[in-house]
Amino acid sequence: MSNDRRAAEMQLHLHSQTNPRLHEADGPLMIAEGRGAIVIDDAGRRYIEGMSGLWCASLGFSNERLADAAYRQMRTLGAYHTANHRSNEPVAELVRLIEEISPIPSCRIYLTSTGSEATDSMVKLAWYYNCARGKPEKRKIISRQGAYHGSTVMAAALCGLPNMHRAFNLPTQDILYARRPHYFREAEPHESVASFGARLASELEGMILAEGADTIAAMIAEPVMGAGGVFIPPENYFPLIQEVLARHDILLLADEIICGFGRTGNWFGSETFNIKPDMVSIAKGLSAGHMPIAGVIISDRIYQAVADQAASIGVFGHGFTYSGHPVTSAVAVEAIRIYQEIDIVGLARSAGSHLLSSLRQKFSDHEFVGDIRGVGLLGGIEIVADRKDNTPFAPEERIGAKVEMACRRRGALVRNMGDTIAFCPPFQISETETEQLVEVVHQALEDVL
Ligand code: PLP
Repeated sequence: MSNDRRAAEMQLHLHSQTNPRLHEADGPLMIAEGRGAIVIDDAGRRYIEGMSGLWCASLGFSNERLADAAYRQMRTLGAYHTANHRSNEPVAELVRLIEEISPIPSCRIYLTSTGSEATDSMVKLAWYYNCARGKPEKRKIISRQGAYHGSTVMAAALCGLPNMHRAFNLPTQDILYARRPHYFREAEPHESVASFGARLASELEGMILAEGADTIAAMIAEPVMGAGGVFIPPENYFPLIQEVLARHDILLLADEIICGFGRTGNWFGSETFNIKPDMVSIAKGLSAGHMPIAGVIISDRIYQAVADQAASIGVFGHGFTYSGHPVTSAVAVEAIRIYQEIDIVGLARSAGSHLLSSLRQKFSDHEFVGDIRGVGLLGGIEIVADRKDNTPFAPEERIGAKVEMACRRRGALVRNMGDTIAFCPPFQISETETEQLVEVVHQALEDVL
């Protein structure tokens, strides 16, 4: 890229999730092209993309079939909407395909453009549902420490990550934050994984009783918490918390924005972790990250209440210009067809088991790695200052960020979530590329520590 362009980018673009002053000094990593699990920058340097971009490019970074689907659709109907009873062919096919694999039987599908809109839509649907049942005061939402649900006002308020709250004064008065199911950091000494799961369920019930179940509408939860640090819940966690929620008439909203479409080794994380959600948010993998499209899968019980309520008060007053956009929907249709053809679930399991065994081989005895986690094609290693008692590094040492930068210098892109280095590569990553990725992280740890 020309120096002028680079200077313009640095002077004019306010980046998301970026420290602006550091960006003014260092400038962007300009990615020019990508194929499979590899991206190439504007100077021709190649990187193994260990995170599928932002957990989304499940089919890699360029795909002819997805490109053709967009091109074909743009030449017939490139723009339209689904408000006021309008629809289009790609939307009709997309909802049919989603219903086929949905973790909620007899569902309805609501479409949005981004995951954050899907989060907000789930919350508004939960509120609308309770208004329809004559319980408008049942409106608080339980989230969790370490959660990430998006960046719009409500979605950000639901995040349990300090950087998402700092200096925004978000409306958190109706939100409760339960403990994260992160055994490595949250378990008591000598507590078994199953006892830990049971304790979290009983803590949740304590929170509900203290707050008043008649004030709580829903709990929102990622099956595997992604941006918090790849936290994989104990096996008994979701079945137990679900019992608690059912006892108190509280909905469970599964945020499957990372976990959906094969990532955890099933079509949805809800299957992997035995969750029976009332609503499910989907995004990212829905179009393999190639188009901004997202949505909410809704149970029939909720749909019927919403439809009844709208019948009595008028239009269901919620929607986005690009809900059910024909081009984004056509690309999502093609992505799901590809997933079915290549057996995305089988791929997640085989590539994931290779990733996890490579991580274990490299890091099981590593003096600065305290925990190695993985499910499906999703993994993480947690860096510690002292393995004897798993003391973390002081946050100001920014160890994770330094490892991330060292990986970049060595030709791999990974993401640090505090002290955890996360792995979420495209599904076609080869075994050799996986081994190279893990080796780069190993070398980066040597560089930094
Ligand atoms: N929920 C989860 C679990 C996510 O990981 C993300 C994005 O990373 C979102 C919600 C928000 O999605 P979007 O960035 O498309 O608004």
